[in-house]
Amino acid sequence: MEPATIGTLISGIKGTIDITIAALRARDEAKANEMANAINDQLAKLYGALFDAQQNALASQERIQTLVNEASALKSELDEFMRKRIELEKYELTPVSEGPVLYRLKVSNASEKPAHYRCPSCVDAGKPGYLQPATKGLRMYLICPDCRFEYAAGFLPPPDYSKLIERMA
Ligand SMILES: [Zn+2]
Repeated sequence: MEPATIGTLISGIKGTIDITIAALRARDEAKANEMANAINDQLAKLYGALFDAQQNALASQERIQTLVNEASALKSELDEFMRKRIELEKYELTPVSEGPVLYRLKVSNASEKPAHYRCPSCVDAGKPGYLQPATKGLRMYLICPDCRFEYAAGFLPPPDYSKLIERMA
């Protein structure tokens, strides 16, 4: 097989990975699974082509190594995206008190980590976006350390004056 054909296979895989990532961002599970299967088929063809190329005495060893590295890098990119996707399945989009919709750790995963929220725009951009609580006066906020966005999370409960009233009585 000619190196140009191997390059075409790699371009095809890269294109399919882009479609897969777009489908995952659009939460189109059926399309993402279809594309993941297509990637596996394309990788099998690529490995076959690379094997054929290695058998060809005229093929340049350096070129083959570059192509193997490219295939490996694409596989790593896909593995990393899949890892993030599996991690994100532990969360559900949920509105907090004043309206913003955030990723919240599902109750079924609460034994793994303490309850927390993640910033949807940073998560969609592939960043962690673990929101940190903060207060300004009586208002509570959740601040994203990645994009610095402040999500209004409502009001603190009023202070408990019952002990003071008991002492005054
Ligand atoms: Zn953010």
